[in-house]
Amino acid sequence: MTAGGSGWRMRAACADVDPEVFFPVAESGPVQERQVAEAKVVCAGCPVRSECLAWALVTLPHGVAGGLSAEERRGLGASRPVRVGPPPEATPRERAQAGRAALAAGRAPAVVAAELGVSERTALRWAQQIRTAERGAA
Ligand code: SF4
Repeated sequence: MTAGGSGWRMRAACADVDPEVFFPVAESGPVQERQVAEAKVVCAGCPVRSECLAWALVTLPHGVAGGLSAEERRGLGASRPVRVGPPPEATPRERAQAGRAALAAGRAPAVVAAELGVSERTALRWAQQIRTAERGAA
């Protein structure tokens, strides 16, 4: 799924896997479900899954990444990719979007802060916003 590069991509479990595995040719039905499941098996053992997910939430509109399908990523708040590039190059708005999604997926605020290059206080503020939104939706 990854396209070379450095940093977390160098540790990706899919580094030597055919990229087509992560982009199912079928758009729906049992064939697509089987292809997505195959990709998710690779992601399940990936040591950089959270980094990949944060990147994919702001960058990748299609395919499986970070252990989630494109539809599942949209459900985490990635309405549509707004910029091509890793989180460190993202705008503050894109970074906040990726951070809130990572927190909603269960990442610790300190980890999210380190991954996205923001203060822990900022990550805690995002977490508070999620809790407030959840209370409002309940
Ligand atoms: S989470 Fe999946 S798509 Fe992302 S780097 Fe790991 S194996 Fe590749």
